[in-house]
Amino acid sequence: MNIYTDKRLLRAGLIGGTLSRHSGNMRELTNQAAVLRELNIDPARLLHFHQVHSDTIISIGSTQEAHAHTTRSTLDADGWVFSPFPTGWGAAIVTADCVPLFVWDDTGTYATLAHCGWRGVVKGLARKTVQTLLAHNSKMHLNAWLGPHIQACCFEVQEDVATQFASDCIVHKNGKIFVDLNVEIKRQLTQAGVYEKDIQTPYYCTCGDKENFFSWRRDHEKNLLLSFMYKP
Ligand SMILES: [Zn+2]
Repeated sequence: MNIYTDKRLLRAGLIGGTLSRHSGNMRELTNQAAVLRELNIDPARLLHFHQVHSDTIISIGSTQEAHAHTTRSTLDADGWVFSPFPTGWGAAIVTADCVPLFVWDDTGTYATLAHCGWRGVVKGLARKTVQTLLAHNSKMHLNAWLGPHIQACCFEVQEDVATQFASDCIVHKNGKIFVDLNVEIKRQLTQAGVYEKDIQTPYYCTCGDKENFFSWRRDHEKNLLLSFMYKP
């Protein structure tokens, strides 16, 4: 099993990250269950929602709320907020080019996990998840990590998409237009209150690295990568 993660997450007492394609297609819940058991995580304790490229957030603040959500995995949403994070629970998202965004405080008491496709980014999902988190406790120190996603090297768009982004997100190359989602997400996170030095954007490109990642843009197949966050 190969997990892309950030050691600050572990330091905060949380387990999480993005699994490489070697763990299989995570559209299949049986594949998710297999890797989670290897990590000693009960698959029933990882919450799901139905991802729709929105800016809708689901907040969970207790074991009771987490339990209640287990019967509502078909709710439309794209961001999780745990405030406070109930022990023995977590959340999952699936991606194939979209950005898995992880934000957490130093103590692992507050955290968010969001599915940021370009539409969600344009809707301000990254900013909104952090604002929702900080509404519960404005004093915390936050860390952010952007998991593997399609990077500016491969995210070619047409004019209609490009015009929805600020000019500093746009890269022109060989007469083509590319979008750098990192730039816009970083802006939203810092606007919401995360220090720039605490945002890590490692350059893992799902589209460019076929050996390790699934990519909708590259393959047009319905294979998905799993990102998750769990408080043991
Ligand atoms: Zn690339």
